[in-house]
Amino acid sequence: MVPDTLDHREGPRDECGVFGVYAPGHDVSKLAYYGLYALQHRGQESAGIAAADLGGYIITQRALGLVSQVFTEHDLRALSGDIAVGHTRYSTTGGNDWENSQPIHRNDRRELALAHNGNLINAVELHSELVARGVHFRATTDSEIMAALLATAEADSLEEAIVQAIPRMHGAYSTVVMDRDRVHAFRDPQGIRPMCLGRIGDHGWVVASETCALDIIGATYERDVEPGELVILDERGVTSRMVQPGQRRASCLFEYIYFARPDSRMNGQLLQRSRIRMGELLARDAPVPGADIVVPVPDSGIPGARGFARGSGIPVEDGFVKNRYVQRTFIQPGNELRQQGLRLKFNPLPEVVEGKSLVVVDDSIVRGNTTRQLVKMLRDAGAREVHFRITAPPIRNPCHYGVDMSSREEMVAHERTIEEIRAHIGCESLAYLDLDAVYEAVQGERSTHCDACFSGDYPIEGTEGHLGKFALENQLPMVQA
Ligand code: SF4
Repeated sequence: MVPDTLDHREGPRDECGVFGVYAPGHDVSKLAYYGLYALQHRGQESAGIAAADLGGYIITQRALGLVSQVFTEHDLRALSGDIAVGHTRYSTTGGNDWENSQPIHRNDRRELALAHNGNLINAVELHSELVARGVHFRATTDSEIMAALLATAEADSLEEAIVQAIPRMHGAYSTVVMDRDRVHAFRDPQGIRPMCLGRIGDHGWVVASETCALDIIGATYERDVEPGELVILDERGVTSRMVQPGQRRASCLFEYIYFARPDSRMNGQLLQRSRIRMGELLARDAPVPGADIVVPVPDSGIPGARGFARGSGIPVEDGFVKNRYVQRTFIQPGNELRQQGLRLKFNPLPEVVEGKSLVVVDDSIVRGNTTRQLVKMLRDAGAREVHFRITAPPIRNPCHYGVDMSSREEMVAHERTIEEIRAHIGCESLAYLDLDAVYEAVQGERSTHCDACFSGDYPIEGTEGHLGKFALENQLPMVQA
């Protein structure tokens, strides 16, 4: 477990990153390695790559840790081939065990390796059905259920197995799965989690969670994989099948606000730009007359603070320095040091903040403990006034689509008014960007996005009956054996 005092995000935690490449003649394991390296922010618990020569055996390596810790140069040489899929994981279903790392490699009726980002809301039902059919499991993730569904299906091909499985899987899934000959990539009919398609060299193709993974390997962005679409990468190039068009597109709004890397593009927009715009709109809608400086909470609040400064004319200054090397596996600090825990990650600069009225900008507040500590630190450093501005609405509802937020009761905005949250945090004023302004910043519409963690409007029917991250362990402890 990560001590709260060290993890300034306090949730939401990033989800997972997926990558797939079909590129005979290229060093696909290196491409996958660098693709995953660019997607490291989406999951830091485990990483894995599966690779194969065309028609050859699939070799998989996965382990707990960061991409740079999991693979050596020697490992990557052993993973050489023509096609590969890869995964970085933060657990949204199932605990942080090696067995739950991905890609999942199964060899039932057919051999495959699968990497998934998202969360199935009917995982328990699918699991029970598969167990009743005599299918065995080693892991406790919905991703293994998906892999088992595809590996055991009686369809003639993996392609047909996917086509039959998509209508049966409810929830969020951006998935890459390879057999010995091709890479398949598909998205749920709502397109909740992102996935894009790119080209590398003359005949190579790549799919990835975000465009930043294309940039790092020199691939060019072609288009997004559409909601409900299956694309197949093989010697024919890209084959597309629209398997199940969704009644309603529901791309995750929080990807724009926080999850995705600022140098990724979504909906045709550079996210860094959208985030700066959120700050500008916040300055328009919730100004702080007479403030001396705008201070970002690094790194998440930096683009928003820049936007607020631009919108208000108030200069932005670094009031905190962040230690970028505090990792999730940090040794627990013990009681005495715990009191000062957050300083391991943030240190305020009295020379910058002393005697000043500050506008402090961050992109979200979940539980509020860290925000409260940041306010106290700034006061201890001599700040005269602290005005918090958040470039997203209050988070009041958990995500069931692949992002690990706190439970509803743990959220600081749960059953609290903004004034009550302000009092809890202890700042002079607090304001959030409202949902309409977020849509204005991302140039998108509610009708094509999910904003359930803010609004409570879940785009998939039956979502609230879902049982949470440890649904499988809670319901079916035997699957851990
Ligand atoms: S509930 Fe929030 S985090 Fe989850 S998919 Fe919807 S917008 Fe994204």
